[in-house]
Amino acid sequence: MSPYSFISHLQCSFCGKEYKADSIIQVCESCGYPLFVRYDLTSMKKSIDRDSLISRPQNFWRYHELLPVHDPANIVSFNEPFTPIVPLSETGASMNMTRLYAKDEGVLPSGTFKARGASIGISKAKEMGVSAIGIPTNGNAGAAWALYAAKAGIDITVVMPNSAPITPQKECLIAGANLYVIEGTIGDAGKILPKLVNTDNWYDVSTLKEPYRLEGKKTMGFEIAEQFSWSVPDVIVYPTGGGAGVVGIYKALLELQELGWMEKRMPRFAIVQADGCAPLVEAYQKGERFSKEWQDPHTIAFGMRVPKALGDFLILDVLRETDGIAISVDDESIHAERKNVVRRDGLHASPEGAAGIAGVRKLRDQGWIRPDETVLVMNTGSGLKYTDQITETPRTYAFSATK
Ligand SMILES: *Cc1c(COP(=O)(O)O)cnc(C)c1O
Ligand SMILES: [Zn+2]
Repeated sequence: MSPYSFISHLQCSFCGKEYKADSIIQVCESCGYPLFVRYDLTSMKKSIDRDSLISRPQNFWRYHELLPVHDPANIVSFNEPFTPIVPLSETGASMNMTRLYAKDEGVLPSGTFKARGASIGISKAKEMGVSAIGIPTNGNAGAAWALYAAKAGIDITVVMPNSAPITPQKECLIAGANLYVIEGTIGDAGKILPKLVNTDNWYDVSTLKEPYRLEGKKTMGFEIAEQFSWSVPDVIVYPTGGGAGVVGIYKALLELQELGWMEKRMPRFAIVQADGCAPLVEAYQKGERFSKEWQDPHTIAFGMRVPKALGDFLILDVLRETDGIAISVDDESIHAERKNVVRRDGLHASPEGAAGIAGVRKLRDQGWIRPDETVLVMNTGSGLKYTDQITETPRTYAFSATK
């Protein structure tokens, strides 16, 4: 019988050093950069074919051979669905495009794609016997991990900036997480986290500081490949902060291509950041491999407010390898696209998703996206998590109910 997971080892994404699979480990002990989970794709190719996989239920675990969990008894899941690909016909038409689509991650538990990393990350933590975890977050990751940790019975400490939106704070609280809000950025939250966890024996699940969370992000790439009939759109647009989303999708497509399950063609990746926090755009424009920490980061698209990503070089590599691009947009155009897309196509985009759409409009204006290209923009979360940003107010009407 073929194994449930084909995980073989861990490997440093920077220096290539190898580590044992299933280790409770953070980053590379030699260079401090992120570790990747590697699989025995050669054996897998011999024992599994694509058709045997697609008859399974449509959820994250359909791809269990390419995920790090060995025993299905350790899976922590709420039966997450495939997220829909919705045509943005009217929005596309407003940019003279015929094939603009959004992948709507807002339907996942806790309303963002962060559920993916949380489901796979918590399942693996459970399998390895982890009893306490800590996570710095701009809000959404904390909300997602709080849900899955609650189900797994794992103690979770979440630290977020006090400027984070109120909804994910409340989500953490109702799910029973130990939530701290601090003055500062997500980077500061990461530095303070060790002081706030109530035990010495805990696992730091910060973005790319352990290898398993990224494997959950990969499920976006698997779904995209299947939803595009084992092909890819011409362009994938991703609103980017820590970058695990982009790196995860790219890793998934590479694995599928190595298995021979899909054509060897990559989409061009376009990452979108906010003018008020664009370290990757700056590095991309200067042709540098690493980004510099962004001073005084600010934007309404909170999930993208990451002043320095640990995996910056991985994101920038993806852009170079796929003829991609990095651009930034301002908060006014983010808010304008939120209104546009809900009125034209009924999609409640998060500000991050709306930033992606604003990015598409800019790239169309610049001619980088052509009118007939198939473009997939990731709506990374539901706009209904951000109703506090809607500044319009209702009219009132005074009347007497007794008359
Ligand atoms: C976290 C987050 C992002 C950024 O994703 P990365 O993978 O960290 O680049 C974008 N949108 C939303 C809604 C998020 O919560
Ligand atoms: Zn290394």
